[in-house]
Amino acid sequence: MDFELSEDHLTTQKWVHEFAEKEIRPVAAHYDEAEEFPWPVLKRAAEVGLFGLEFYLETLAADPSGLMFPVCFEETCWGCAGISLGIWGSGLPLTTLAYSGTPEQLLQWAPLMFGTADDPKVGALCVTEPDAGSDVSALRTRARRDGDEWVLNGQKVFITNGGIASVHVVVATVDPALGHRGQAAFIVGPGNPGLRQGKKERKLGIRASHTAGVLLEDYRIPLEDVVGGVERLEAKLEQARSEGPSRGSAALKTFEMTRPSVAAQAVGIARAAFEFSRDYAKERTQFGRPIIDNQGVAFKLADMAMESDAARLRGIDVEAEGRRDRGLGHRTGDPDPGRVRLRQGLPGREVVPRREDLHPVRGDLRDPADRDQPRARPLSPKSLFPLTP
Ligand SMILES: Cc1cc2nc3c(=O)[nH]c(=O)nc-3n(C[C@H](O)[C@H](O)[C@H](O)COP(=O)(O)OP(=O)(O)OC[C@H]3O[C@@H](n4cnc5c(N)ncnc54)[C@H](O)[C@@H]3O)c2cc1C
Repeated sequence: MDFELSEDHLTTQKWVHEFAEKEIRPVAAHYDEAEEFPWPVLKRAAEVGLFGLEFYLETLAADPSGLMFPVCFEETCWGCAGISLGIWGSGLPLTTLAYSGTPEQLLQWAPLMFGTADDPKVGALCVTEPDAGSDVSALRTRARRDGDEWVLNGQKVFITNGGIASVHVVVATVDPALGHRGQAAFIVGPGNPGLRQGKKERKLGIRASHTAGVLLEDYRIPLEDVVGGVERLEAKLEQARSEGPSRGSAALKTFEMTRPSVAAQAVGIARAAFEFSRDYAKERTQFGRPIIDNQGVAFKLADMAMESDAARLRGIDVEAEGRRDRGLGHRTGDPDPGRVRLRQGLPGREVVPRREDLHPVRGDLRDPADRDQPRARPLSPKSLFPLTP
């Protein structure tokens, strides 16, 4: 696997970065304070071709490495994470349709999730409920079959674009006894009073993104609007009842496909935080010199930069890393455990000290940053003050 960015990635990255710098950054504070959905920015993004189904199909989905979406997401999040979620939030329901829907469903509903450059629209994926967050198998929203229709009833919470979307993809339980294997996703189009927006969340961050509850009261949709079609659902339920292996759920498949982009979102935010801090530290003068000239400040900034880069590289093959470390002449030839851990992104995993000559006072490793390391020896008054009798 090669994680080097291609020429295509680099060109698109530069283009998205320029959009973030010119169109997102200047209005970020306004939308964050006002907690307004950034429709004008979406309109601008649609005009230049960044927001829309074509961009997903021709640039993101067409990239065989899968890196294009995280690359773009990192750049827009560098601009403003809330506005960025406004631009990319429709990707969640689109992914459900793309990976679990029929080609006809994708053709019919996907364009409605984006609208046009003059009149942009958004989509929403509704999974989470008051008592079903991490535990997706506990969903209570019910889909009951009534003749040629499904009747949906339930309550969703924390839904990105919930209530303002023109298409809601709602995950509901058809057979509660089967846990997540008894669930299916349903497509809810615009203009039916059976779907209402619930409470809009007031958030501490990503405030330009709209997060709200969704209420479904006897919402009726045609049978064919179950994602993947009725026949596939019935076959899946049949298989689950006979306790065969699970074919997976549309919700879990969507999360699997979209989680790397959530990590890229965090990297974009971290990079912006680092740059703001660095610039301030260069500009702020105390005791006659910029505060960045103090090692204590500069080291913190260096750690921030290193950790953001390490987070971006977390997928790098550990074996390859080992070979590279051997090339640099490490004593044992093993990859440095701290660096491996950082690149694997496994915080909390125990790091085996490789060096015997640990610092006598701190008792921890010095590379990488101390605060990333568990204590190699528990701290005791004796280890802190070795001369104590
Ligand atoms: C801004 C925002 C946008 C969102 N957008 C959407 C959306 O568009 N659609 C949607 O369906 N949902 C959305 N969500 C909801 C999100 O998916 C849930 O918040 C998430 O699934 C976690 O559920 P929860 O908040 O109920 O946390 P809980 O499940 O209650 O978890 C609370 C804490 O316990 C930990 N925990 C839980 N179970 C375990 C375990 N077994 N072992 C160890 N630790 C555990 C969790 O890691 C977490 O730290 C959004 C949430 C936010 C904040």
